[in-house]
Amino acid sequence: MDKSEIYNHLGEDREDYFNAGAPPIIATSNFLFDSVDEIRNALSYKNGIPFYTRGVNPTTKILEKKIAALEKTESALAFSSGMSAISAAIFSQLKSGDNIISINKPYIGTNKLMKEILPNFNISTTFVEGNNIKDFEDAIQKNTKLIYLESPNSWTFEMQDLEKVADFAKKNKLITIIDNSYASPLNCNPHVWGIDIVVHSATKYISGHGDVMGGVVCSTKKIVDQIYGHQYKVNGGIISPFNSWLFIRGLRTLEMRMKFISENTPKVVSYLENHPKINKVIYPHGKDFHQKDLVKKYLKKPCGQFSVQLKTTVKHEIESFCNNLKYFKMACSWGGHESLIFPEIANFGNEYFDESEALPLNFIRFYVGLEDSKFLIKDIEKALN
Ligand SMILES: *Cc1c(COP(=O)(O)O)cnc(C)c1O
Repeated sequence: MDKSEIYNHLGEDREDYFNAGAPPIIATSNFLFDSVDEIRNALSYKNGIPFYTRGVNPTTKILEKKIAALEKTESALAFSSGMSAISAAIFSQLKSGDNIISINKPYIGTNKLMKEILPNFNISTTFVEGNNIKDFEDAIQKNTKLIYLESPNSWTFEMQDLEKVADFAKKNKLITIIDNSYASPLNCNPHVWGIDIVVHSATKYISGHGDVMGGVVCSTKKIVDQIYGHQYKVNGGIISPFNSWLFIRGLRTLEMRMKFISENTPKVVSYLENHPKINKVIYPHGKDFHQKDLVKKYLKKPCGQFSVQLKTTVKHEIESFCNNLKYFKMACSWGGHESLIFPEIANFGNEYFDESEALPLNFIRFYVGLEDSKFLIKDIEKALN
């Protein structure tokens, strides 16, 4: 299906709501029935009839249809946050005694889930570098059920060969999950390469405006239905219809935003790569990236996140660079209109932070939003001076 059709038409049955161009926000918990037959019929998910918003909501359904089409999966479910989607996907595939093979440095919340929560349910995780298929071969145990990927991750951007990992997983009857937030559904479709479940923090690119939180799980109808029956309805981390509506609105401009970001970010990166006060830039589309072959195979266009290591290792110099940026504000998130940094140094001294997993002190993650590269470069130049 043409992407323009997905953004602007798919799932929008306008004749059902006065031919309004924008879909209605069906802000209701209940859907009302007049007969036992009708409510009985609606309670079966197979019929897709709304009966309760922690189940089926028509506004959310529009979003889910569009996301599934963009990710080229049969089906999708929307959740209240990226972490809610990730937790649902992971829990749906495991039981007590199972083992996960995960890439090192998954998203911080996922990392905590694997290290601090899943062990309480007797589920272990083996962390691997993941650059080489041999890492997975060496890690597999009798009780391994799941491989968890992020390609690239959102700090140091290591990638995995999705096709090879998917082949390995299929041969060994393992389920594969990937967090595809970095690439967005436009720059990589892991399901096409054989990955079973694709999750996104929709909070990032799918929203695109830094004003709403949500997550999605995309997979086969069989897996999505299974998650719907348990993690979605029972754990209940559903999205509000208003947030679904904002994500539908976000999707209208996703392609234009991603196109702008793909042209803008490399200009900022290239400025930094050539700056004497910068030690290193880590960017999949950067000049020194160590997995260029995987970038070529899996990432259609450059995305907005990269990391730098400053030359200085002096604490007050690192902090003064960050503080002197006027337009790159500091924040945890990314994917919206505003350009942001997150300095690793901000983690130090916080009780949630495990210093044994720390990156170098002078490590800063950048996100380039929808401002012009010249404007952003000027900001960086001033702060570096
Ligand atoms: C932000 C983020 C998440 C978590 O998503 P939330 O919407 O904040 O819950 C997961 N993975 C990656 C790569 C992220 O950047």
